Amino acid sequence: MKPLGPIPPGYALIDGELAVAGRKASELVATAGETPLFVYSAQHMRRRVAALREAMPARLALHYAVKANPFGPVLQLMDGLVDGFDIASGGELTMIAAAGIATDRVSFAGPGKRDSELEAAITAGVTLNLESEGEADRALAIAERTGATPRLAIRVNPDFDLKGSGMKMGGGAKPFGIDAERVPDLARRIIASGAEWRGLHIFAGSQSLDSDAISETQAETIRLAARLAEASGVPLPHCNLGGGLGIPYFAGDEPVDLAGIGARLSEQFAVLPGVLSETRFCIEMGRYLAGEAGIYLTRIVDRKVSHGETFLVVDGGLHHQLAASGNFGTVVRRNYPVAIATRFDAPVDEEASVVGCLCTPLDRLAEKGGFPRAEVGDLIAVFCAGAYGASASPATFLGHRPAAETLV
Ligand SMILES: *Cc1c(COP(=O)(O)O)cnc(C)c1O
Repeated sequence: MKPLGPIPPGYALIDGELAVAGRKASELVATAGETPLFVYSAQHMRRRVAALREAMPARLALHYAVKANPFGPVLQLMDGLVDGFDIASGGELTMIAAAGIATDRVSFAGPGKRDSELEAAITAGVTLNLESEGEADRALAIAERTGATPRLAIRVNPDFDLKGSGMKMGGGAKPFGIDAERVPDLARRIIASGAEWRGLHIFAGSQSLDSDAISETQAETIRLAARLAEASGVPLPHCNLGGGLGIPYFAGDEPVDLAGIGARLSEQFAVLPGVLSETRFCIEMGRYLAGEAGIYLTRIVDRKVSHGETFLVVDGGLHHQLAASGNFGTVVRRNYPVAIATRFDAPVDEEASVVGCLCTPLDRLAEKGGFPRAEVGDLIAVFCAGAYGASASPATFLGHRPAAETLV
Protein backbone atom coordinates (compact mmCIF):
# COMPACT_ATOMS: atom_id res chain seq x y z
CA MET A 1 0.00 0.00 0.00
CA LYS A 2 1.19 3.53 -0.70
CA PRO A 3 0.48 6.21 1.88
CA LEU A 4 -2.18 8.83 1.25
CA GLY A 5 -1.55 12.47 2.09
CA PRO A 6 -2.83 13.97 5.35
CA ILE A 7 -6.48 15.05 5.40
CA PRO A 8 -6.51 18.75 6.37
CA PRO A 9 -8.10 19.66 9.70
CA GLY A 10 -11.59 21.15 9.80
CA TYR A 11 -13.60 18.46 7.99
CA ALA A 12 -16.54 16.86 9.77
CA LEU A 13 -18.28 13.51 9.78
CA ILE A 14 -22.08 13.35 9.61
CA ASP A 15 -23.92 10.00 9.37
CA GLY A 16 -20.73 8.29 8.20
CA GLU A 17 -20.12 10.86 5.47
CA LEU A 18 -17.60 13.62 4.93
CA ALA A 19 -19.32 16.97 5.56
CA VAL A 20 -18.50 20.59 4.78
CA ALA A 21 -20.34 23.47 6.46
CA GLY A 22 -22.70 21.00 8.13
CA ARG A 23 -23.70 19.37 4.85
CA LYS A 24 -22.92 15.82 3.82
CA ALA A 25 -21.04 15.17 0.59
CA SER A 26 -24.09 13.47 -0.93
CA GLU A 27 -26.25 16.51 -0.08
CA LEU A 28 -23.73 18.91 -1.57
CA VAL A 29 -23.73 16.88 -4.78
CA ALA A 30 -27.54 16.66 -4.81
CA THR A 31 -27.79 20.45 -4.48
CA ALA A 32 -25.25 21.05 -7.24
CA GLY A 33 -27.02 18.47 -9.37
CA GLU A 34 -23.86 16.86 -10.71
CA THR A 35 -20.43 15.40 -10.17
CA PRO A 36 -17.58 16.18 -10.37
CA LEU A 37 -17.93 19.07 -7.98
CA PHE A 38 -15.46 21.34 -6.23
CA VAL A 39 -16.66 22.41 -2.78
CA TYR A 40 -14.92 25.34 -1.10
CA SER A 41 -15.41 26.09 2.58
CA ALA A 42 -15.84 29.78 3.43
CA GLN A 43 -15.27 29.06 7.10
CA HIS A 44 -11.97 27.35 6.36
CA MET A 45 -10.75 30.40 4.41
CA ARG A 46 -11.94 32.81 7.10
CA ARG A 47 -10.12 30.85 9.77
CA ARG A 48 -6.97 30.73 7.70
CA VAL A 49 -6.91 34.48 7.22
CA ALA A 50 -7.68 35.00 10.94
CA ALA A 51 -4.75 32.73 11.87
CA LEU A 52 -2.44 34.74 9.62
CA ARG A 53 -3.62 38.04 11.11
CA GLU A 54 -3.05 36.64 14.57
CA ALA A 55 0.46 35.38 13.83
CA MET A 56 1.82 38.11 11.57
CA PRO A 57 2.83 41.64 12.51
CA ALA A 58 -0.05 44.09 12.05
CA ARG A 59 2.09 46.06 9.61
CA LEU A 60 2.03 43.16 7.13
CA ALA A 61 -0.80 43.33 4.58
CA LEU A 62 -2.18 40.08 3.13
CA HIS A 63 -2.79 39.66 -0.58
CA TYR A 64 -4.58 36.87 -2.39
CA ALA A 65 -3.03 35.40 -5.56
CA VAL A 66 -6.05 35.01 -7.83
CA LYS A 67 -4.57 32.30 -10.01
CA ALA A 68 -4.90 29.78 -7.18
CA ASN A 69 -8.68 29.97 -7.30
CA PRO A 70 -10.51 32.63 -9.34
CA PHE A 71 -14.04 31.30 -8.66
CA GLY A 72 -16.25 34.42 -8.39
CA PRO A 73 -17.78 33.69 -4.95
CA VAL A 74 -14.29 32.92 -3.59
CA LEU A 75 -13.02 36.27 -4.89
CA GLN A 76 -15.98 38.03 -3.27
CA LEU A 77 -15.33 36.27 0.03
CA MET A 78 -11.64 37.18 -0.13
CA ASP A 79 -12.57 40.79 -0.86
CA GLY A 80 -13.81 41.07 2.71
CA LEU A 81 -10.84 39.21 4.18
CA VAL A 82 -7.61 40.34 2.50
CA ASP A 83 -5.96 43.69 1.80
CA GLY A 84 -5.20 43.24 -1.86
CA PHE A 85 -5.21 40.93 -4.86
CA ASP A 86 -2.45 39.79 -7.19
CA ILE A 87 -3.33 38.89 -10.74
CA ALA A 88 -1.26 37.37 -13.52
CA SER A 89 -3.28 38.14 -16.65
CA GLY A 90 -5.81 40.47 -18.21
CA GLY A 91 -8.35 37.65 -17.88
CA GLU A 92 -7.90 37.67 -14.12
CA LEU A 93 -8.43 41.43 -14.12
CA THR A 94 -11.77 40.83 -15.85
CA MET A 95 -12.68 38.26 -13.18
CA ILE A 96 -11.75 40.68 -10.40
CA ALA A 97 -13.87 43.42 -11.93
CA ALA A 98 -16.77 41.00 -12.51
CA ALA A 99 -16.63 40.08 -8.81
CA GLY A 100 -17.10 43.75 -7.96
CA ILE A 101 -13.66 44.17 -6.42
CA ALA A 102 -12.05 47.62 -6.51
CA THR A 103 -9.23 47.36 -9.04
CA ASP A 104 -7.00 49.87 -7.24
CA ARG A 105 -6.34 47.11 -4.68
CA VAL A 106 -4.82 44.93 -7.36
CA SER A 107 -1.28 44.32 -8.57
CA PHE A 108 -0.38 42.55 -11.78
CA ALA A 109 2.76 40.41 -12.10
CA GLY A 110 3.74 37.91 -14.75
CA PRO A 111 5.89 37.79 -17.85
CA GLY A 112 4.60 38.51 -21.35
CA LYS A 113 1.97 41.13 -20.56
CA ARG A 114 0.45 42.26 -23.84
CA ASP A 115 -0.12 45.92 -24.67
CA SER A 116 -3.88 45.40 -24.36
CA GLU A 117 -3.41 43.93 -20.87
CA LEU A 118 -1.08 46.76 -19.84
CA GLU A 119 -3.59 49.33 -21.05
CA ALA A 120 -6.53 47.69 -19.26
CA ALA A 121 -4.50 47.51 -16.06
CA ILE A 122 -3.21 51.09 -16.24
CA THR A 123 -6.70 52.41 -16.95
CA ALA A 124 -8.10 50.45 -13.99
CA GLY A 125 -5.49 51.81 -11.56
CA VAL A 126 -3.84 48.42 -11.14
CA THR A 127 -0.21 48.41 -9.95
CA LEU A 128 2.03 46.81 -12.55
CA ASN A 129 4.86 44.69 -11.24
CA LEU A 130 7.19 45.23 -14.17
CA GLU A 131 9.03 42.15 -15.38
CA SER A 132 11.53 43.82 -17.72
CA GLU A 133 12.81 47.16 -18.97
CA GLY A 134 10.98 46.51 -22.23
CA GLU A 135 7.71 46.11 -20.38
CA ALA A 136 8.43 49.35 -18.51
CA ASP A 137 8.94 51.17 -21.83
CA ARG A 138 5.69 49.82 -23.21
CA ALA A 139 3.77 50.73 -20.05
CA LEU A 140 5.14 54.28 -20.08
CA ALA A 141 4.30 54.68 -23.78
CA ILE A 142 0.71 53.48 -23.17
CA ALA A 143 0.36 55.85 -20.21
CA GLU A 144 1.59 58.74 -22.34
CA ARG A 145 -0.86 57.92 -25.11
CA THR A 146 -3.86 57.50 -22.78
CA GLY A 147 -2.97 60.35 -20.42
CA ALA A 148 -3.22 58.07 -17.38
CA THR A 149 -0.71 58.07 -14.52
CA PRO A 150 0.53 54.48 -14.32
CA ARG A 151 1.20 52.86 -10.96
CA LEU A 152 4.49 51.07 -11.38
CA ALA A 153 6.47 48.68 -9.23
CA ILE A 154 9.45 46.57 -10.19
CA ARG A 155 9.52 42.85 -9.80
CA VAL A 156 13.02 41.97 -8.72
CA ASN A 157 14.74 38.74 -9.70
CA PRO A 158 16.47 38.18 -6.38
CA ASP A 159 19.91 36.60 -6.24
CA PHE A 160 18.66 33.92 -3.83
CA ASP A 161 15.79 31.48 -3.78
CA LEU A 162 13.55 29.90 -1.22
CA LYS A 163 14.96 26.60 0.03
CA GLY A 164 12.65 23.62 0.03
CA SER A 165 10.37 25.46 -2.33
CA GLY A 166 8.14 23.51 -4.70
CA MET A 167 8.63 26.09 -7.42
CA LYS A 168 11.76 28.17 -7.63
CA MET A 169 11.08 31.65 -8.87
CA GLY A 170 14.36 33.46 -8.14
CA GLY A 171 18.12 32.96 -8.19
CA GLY A 172 20.08 32.97 -11.45
CA ALA A 173 18.65 33.51 -14.93
CA LYS A 174 14.85 33.71 -14.79
CA PRO A 175 12.02 34.91 -17.01
CA PHE A 176 10.58 36.60 -13.89
CA GLY A 177 11.59 40.02 -12.68
CA ILE A 178 14.53 42.29 -13.36
CA ASP A 179 17.98 41.32 -12.14
CA ALA A 180 18.63 43.10 -8.85
CA GLU A 181 21.62 45.15 -10.03
CA ARG A 182 19.57 46.80 -12.79
CA VAL A 183 16.69 47.77 -10.51
CA PRO A 184 17.97 51.13 -9.15
CA ASP A 185 18.40 52.62 -12.64
CA LEU A 186 14.90 51.63 -13.67
CA ALA A 187 13.41 52.87 -10.39
CA ARG A 188 14.95 56.31 -10.98
CA ARG A 189 13.69 56.31 -14.57
CA ILE A 190 10.14 55.42 -13.46
CA ILE A 191 10.10 58.22 -10.89
CA ALA A 192 11.50 60.73 -13.39
CA SER A 193 8.72 59.82 -15.84
CA GLY A 194 6.06 61.12 -13.44
CA ALA A 195 4.56 57.66 -12.90
CA GLU A 196 3.36 56.73 -9.41
CA TRP A 197 6.25 54.77 -7.91
CA ARG A 198 4.88 51.77 -6.03
CA GLY A 199 8.06 50.02 -4.98
CA LEU A 200 9.34 46.46 -5.23
CA HIS A 201 7.94 42.98 -5.61
CA ILE A 202 10.36 40.24 -4.59
CA PHE A 203 9.07 36.69 -4.93
CA ALA A 204 11.59 33.96 -4.25
CA GLY A 205 9.48 30.80 -4.31
CA SER A 206 6.35 28.93 -3.45
CA GLN A 207 5.08 25.86 -1.51
CA SER A 208 7.75 25.61 1.18
CA LEU A 209 7.06 23.80 4.45
CA ASP A 210 10.44 24.78 5.90
CA SER A 211 9.58 27.57 8.35
CA ASP A 212 13.22 28.52 8.95
CA ALA A 213 13.84 28.80 5.22
CA ILE A 214 10.75 31.00 4.84
CA SER A 215 11.97 33.30 7.63
CA GLU A 216 15.49 33.39 6.22
CA THR A 217 14.10 34.27 2.78
CA GLN A 218 11.97 37.04 4.27
CA ALA A 219 15.05 38.42 6.02
CA GLU A 220 17.07 38.29 2.81
CA THR A 221 14.20 39.91 0.93
CA ILE A 222 14.08 42.81 3.39
CA ARG A 223 17.88 43.23 3.17
CA LEU A 224 17.69 43.26 -0.62
CA ALA A 225 14.83 45.79 -0.59
CA ALA A 226 16.86 48.04 1.71
CA ARG A 227 19.93 47.78 -0.51
CA LEU A 228 17.93 48.60 -3.64
CA ALA A 229 16.07 51.48 -2.00
CA GLU A 230 19.43 52.85 -0.80
CA ALA A 231 20.94 52.53 -4.28
CA SER A 232 17.90 54.13 -5.95
CA GLY A 233 18.12 57.11 -3.63
CA VAL A 234 14.34 57.20 -3.10
CA PRO A 235 12.17 55.86 -0.27
CA LEU A 236 10.32 52.66 -0.89
CA PRO A 237 6.53 53.09 -0.64
CA HIS A 238 5.64 49.39 -0.91
CA CYS A 239 7.46 46.12 -0.66
CA ASN A 240 5.79 42.85 -1.61
CA LEU A 241 7.76 40.14 0.17
CA GLY A 242 6.36 37.34 -2.00
CA GLY A 243 4.78 34.27 -0.52
CA GLY A 244 6.22 30.86 -0.02
CA LEU A 245 3.98 29.36 2.67
CA GLY A 246 3.15 25.82 1.66
CA ILE A 247 0.49 23.36 2.75
CA PRO A 248 0.87 19.63 3.54
CA TYR A 249 -0.08 17.53 0.52
CA PHE A 250 1.80 14.28 1.10
CA ALA A 251 2.36 11.73 3.85
CA GLY A 252 4.94 13.08 6.30
CA ASP A 253 4.36 16.75 5.38
CA GLU A 254 3.94 19.02 8.40
CA PRO A 255 2.23 22.42 8.37
CA VAL A 256 4.43 25.53 8.60
CA ASP A 257 5.03 27.10 12.01
CA LEU A 258 2.97 30.24 11.47
CA ALA A 259 3.58 31.65 14.95
CA GLY A 260 7.35 31.24 14.56
CA ILE A 261 7.40 32.86 11.12
CA GLY A 262 5.27 35.74 12.41
CA ALA A 263 7.46 36.25 15.48
CA ARG A 264 10.66 36.38 13.42
CA LEU A 265 9.09 38.80 10.94
CA SER A 266 8.03 41.05 13.82
CA GLU A 267 11.62 41.06 15.05
CA GLN A 268 12.82 42.12 11.61
CA PHE A 269 10.19 44.84 11.37
CA ALA A 270 11.36 46.17 14.74
CA VAL A 271 14.86 46.89 13.40
CA LEU A 272 14.19 48.10 9.86
CA PRO A 273 16.76 50.46 8.36
CA GLY A 274 15.70 54.09 7.93
CA VAL A 275 15.19 53.73 4.20
CA LEU A 276 12.35 51.24 4.92
CA SER A 277 10.85 53.02 7.91
CA GLU A 278 7.78 54.20 5.96
CA THR A 279 7.50 51.16 3.69
CA ARG A 280 4.23 49.22 3.58
CA PHE A 281 4.86 45.49 3.42
CA CYS A 282 2.67 42.69 2.14
CA ILE A 283 2.83 38.99 1.39
CA GLU A 284 0.87 37.28 -1.35
CA MET A 285 -0.52 33.80 -1.12
CA GLY A 286 -2.79 31.52 -3.05
CA ARG A 287 -2.61 27.96 -1.83
CA TYR A 288 -2.09 28.84 1.83
CA LEU A 289 -5.39 30.74 1.86
CA ALA A 290 -7.49 28.49 -0.33
CA GLY A 291 -5.81 25.12 -0.87
CA GLU A 292 -6.96 23.18 2.17
CA ALA A 293 -10.40 24.83 2.05
CA GLY A 294 -11.40 22.91 -1.07
CA ILE A 295 -12.35 19.34 -1.91
CA TYR A 296 -13.05 17.71 -5.25
CA LEU A 297 -15.93 15.23 -5.22
CA THR A 298 -16.18 12.65 -7.96
CA ARG A 299 -18.37 9.55 -8.28
CA ILE A 300 -17.26 5.98 -8.82
CA VAL A 301 -18.68 4.76 -12.13
CA ASP A 302 -16.83 1.45 -12.36
CA ARG A 303 -15.01 -0.95 -10.13
CA LYS A 304 -12.68 -3.41 -11.76
CA VAL A 305 -9.75 -5.68 -11.08
CA SER A 306 -6.77 -6.12 -13.36
CA HIS A 307 -3.92 -8.48 -12.51
CA GLY A 308 -4.97 -8.35 -8.89
CA GLU A 309 -5.08 -4.54 -8.66
CA THR A 310 -8.44 -2.95 -7.85
CA PHE A 311 -9.35 0.17 -9.79
CA LEU A 312 -12.05 2.58 -8.73
CA VAL A 313 -12.88 4.45 -11.93
CA VAL A 314 -14.45 7.86 -11.31
CA ASP A 315 -16.32 10.40 -13.42
CA GLY A 316 -13.63 13.05 -12.83
CA GLY A 317 -9.90 13.05 -13.28
CA LEU A 318 -6.81 15.01 -14.11
CA HIS A 319 -8.78 17.34 -16.39
CA HIS A 320 -10.05 18.95 -13.15
CA GLN A 321 -7.41 17.90 -10.66
CA LEU A 322 -4.14 17.77 -12.57
CA ALA A 323 -2.00 18.34 -9.49
CA ALA A 324 -3.41 15.28 -7.66
CA SER A 325 -2.40 13.15 -10.64
CA GLY A 326 1.20 14.26 -10.10
CA ASN A 327 1.51 16.05 -13.42
CA PHE A 328 1.68 19.67 -12.24
CA GLY A 329 5.28 20.35 -11.32
CA THR A 330 6.15 17.28 -9.27
CA VAL A 331 9.14 15.02 -9.90
CA VAL A 332 7.91 11.90 -8.13
CA ARG A 333 4.21 11.01 -8.06
CA ARG A 334 2.86 10.76 -4.51
CA ASN A 335 -0.70 10.46 -3.29
CA TYR A 336 -2.71 13.49 -2.30
CA PRO A 337 -5.11 13.05 0.61
CA VAL A 338 -8.01 11.07 -0.86
CA ALA A 339 -10.93 9.38 0.89
CA ILE A 340 -14.24 7.66 0.19
CA ALA A 341 -16.50 10.58 1.13
CA THR A 342 -19.61 8.42 1.53
CA ARG A 343 -17.79 5.96 3.85
CA PHE A 344 -15.67 8.51 5.65
CA ASP A 345 -15.51 6.66 8.98
CA ALA A 346 -15.28 3.11 7.63
CA PRO A 347 -12.08 1.20 8.32
CA VAL A 348 -9.54 0.47 5.61
CA ASP A 349 -10.09 -2.96 4.14
CA GLU A 350 -8.59 -2.97 0.69
CA GLU A 351 -5.88 -1.51 -1.48
CA ALA A 352 -7.22 0.34 -4.51
CA SER A 353 -6.19 2.87 -7.13
CA VAL A 354 -8.52 5.72 -7.97
CA VAL A 355 -8.32 6.50 -11.67
CA GLY A 356 -10.07 9.13 -13.73
CA CYS A 357 -12.18 8.74 -16.86
CA LEU A 358 -9.51 9.96 -19.26
CA CYS A 359 -7.99 7.46 -21.64
CA THR A 360 -4.41 8.05 -20.48
CA PRO A 361 -2.32 6.22 -17.87
CA LEU A 362 -1.48 9.64 -16.37
CA ASP A 363 -5.00 9.91 -15.01
CA ARG A 364 -4.53 8.52 -11.50
CA LEU A 365 -5.95 10.37 -8.50
CA ALA A 366 -4.65 7.86 -5.94
CA GLU A 367 -2.30 4.96 -6.44
CA LYS A 368 -2.55 1.78 -4.33
CA GLY A 369 -4.05 3.55 -1.35
CA GLY A 370 -5.78 1.91 1.59
CA PHE A 371 -9.57 2.47 1.47
CA PRO A 372 -12.77 0.99 2.85
CA ARG A 373 -14.38 -1.16 0.21
CA ALA A 374 -16.26 1.22 -2.10
CA GLU A 375 -18.86 0.51 -4.75
CA VAL A 376 -20.17 2.12 -7.90
CA GLY A 377 -22.09 5.25 -6.83
CA ASP A 378 -19.86 6.09 -3.87
CA LEU A 379 -18.27 9.54 -3.80
CA ILE A 380 -14.52 10.03 -3.65
CA ALA A 381 -13.06 13.19 -2.12
CA VAL A 382 -9.69 14.57 -3.16
CA PHE A 383 -8.52 17.09 -0.55
CA CYS A 384 -6.25 20.13 -0.99
CA ALA A 385 -8.32 20.99 -4.05
CA GLY A 386 -9.06 24.62 -3.23
CA ALA A 387 -6.00 25.97 -5.04
CA TYR A 388 -4.59 25.03 -8.45
CA GLY A 389 -7.46 22.60 -9.02
CA ALA A 390 -10.14 23.90 -11.36
CA SER A 391 -7.96 26.80 -12.53
CA ALA A 392 -4.84 24.74 -13.24
CA SER A 393 -6.21 21.69 -15.03
CA PRO A 394 -6.89 21.00 -18.74
CA ALA A 395 -10.70 21.05 -18.42
CA THR A 396 -11.47 20.52 -22.10
CA PHE A 397 -9.10 17.58 -22.59
CA LEU A 398 -10.93 14.64 -24.20
CA GLY A 399 -14.05 16.69 -24.66
CA HIS A 400 -15.06 16.77 -21.02
CA ARG A 401 -16.68 19.72 -19.30
CA PRO A 402 -15.36 21.81 -16.45
CA ALA A 403 -16.40 20.61 -12.98
CA ALA A 404 -19.12 22.40 -11.07
CA GLU A 405 -17.94 24.63 -8.22
CA THR A 406 -19.65 25.81 -5.06
CA LEU A 407 -18.68 27.89 -2.06
CA VAL A 408 -20.42 26.87 1.15
C1 LIG B 1 1.70 31.92 -8.05
C2 LIG B 1 2.17 33.10 -7.37
C3 LIG B 1 1.79 33.33 -6.03
C4 LIG B 1 0.98 32.36 -5.22
O1 LIG B 1 1.69 31.22 -4.88
P1 LIG B 1 1.06 30.20 -3.84
O2 LIG B 1 2.01 29.08 -3.79
O3 LIG B 1 -0.26 29.80 -4.37
O4 LIG B 1 0.93 30.89 -2.55
C5 LIG B 1 2.17 34.51 -5.46
N1 LIG B 1 2.91 35.40 -6.14
C6 LIG B 1 3.31 35.20 -7.41
C7 LIG B 1 4.13 36.22 -8.09
C8 LIG B 1 2.96 34.05 -8.07
O5 LIG B 1 3.38 33.85 -9.31
